[in-house]
Amino acid sequence: MYIGLDIGGHKINSVLMKGNKIIRKRRTATKSTSNKKIIIAQIFDCVEHLIKDLDLPCFGLPRGKAGETGKSKIRGIGIGAPGPIDLKRGVVLCPPNVKALAGLPLADLVQKKFKTKVILDNDVNCFGIAEGILGAGKGKQNIIGLTLGTGVGGCLILRGKLFYGRDGSASEIGHMVIKKDGWKCSCGNKGCLETYVSARGIIRIAKEIGCRGAIPTEIMRLAKKDNKKALKVYQITGEYLGIGLANLVNILNPDIIIIGGGIANAGELLFNPARKVMRKNILSPLAKNTRIVRAKLGEDAGAIGAALLIKS
Ligand SMILES: [Zn+2]
Repeated sequence: MYIGLDIGGHKINSVLMKGNKIIRKRRTATKSTSNKKIIIAQIFDCVEHLIKDLDLPCFGLPRGKAGETGKSKIRGIGIGAPGPIDLKRGVVLCPPNVKALAGLPLADLVQKKFKTKVILDNDVNCFGIAEGILGAGKGKQNIIGLTLGTGVGGCLILRGKLFYGRDGSASEIGHMVIKKDGWKCSCGNKGCLETYVSARGIIRIAKEIGCRGAIPTEIMRLAKKDNKKALKVYQITGEYLGIGLANLVNILNPDIIIIGGGIANAGELLFNPARKVMRKNILSPLAKNTRIVRAKLGEDAGAIGAALLIKS
């Protein structure tokens, strides 16, 4: 059995998995994003909750060895956390939305508390692993994963494995510059993909063209009712996304592009214009057919992927 945790600015998702199946899960609102003690206590509490009563000898173990309990069958805890990670030391470096985790030796703390193997990785990498193994990318070897939400997260799976680069900082796809002197990004640069293809970007585009929706879900609702301005918002956002995807496809020629996160709920409203611009900007006629699909596993993907870090 494996435990996976996905720590975010709004919620902490956790799952207990046996093979590829979730057997328990817990989702709680993040109690604090700035207080280390509170967030560590909450992380411990999530794990405690998942392993509660597992020390009963019969728990889910049809042919357990003598003396073996559910708890002793926990092979490890995988953790997905936002932002860049020092993978070797198991430290979260500069999480954009959970400041309390910055510089925290999270893997060590959890390992000492629960005396089991702990692997810490970036949350979008966990999303990618889950979708790659069990979700929309099942059976594919080369995958680009994107999560579109408050920001834009990215991950690369190449030859069936997460690609980290030299320092583990690869696949910051959201900070690929797609427009010179474009809008200012939260990272300090200008014109990053994230500034256009995220909740913030959609709100800003809506404002610029005078669309009346104030938040992406409202704009999406209007667009689905054929409101012209709302459709235009997704058209523009999709075109920016298409430029980013074309750059990635020209470099990597992946099998599939998987897109998750709340903004991806717009589906074809966003993917259609993205696909058109992407095709136009891809060099190889063969690569023009690269598929863009929605993620399949929903909100549990990050926690599932974190658990799979231990399994694989
Ligand atoms: Zn940026």
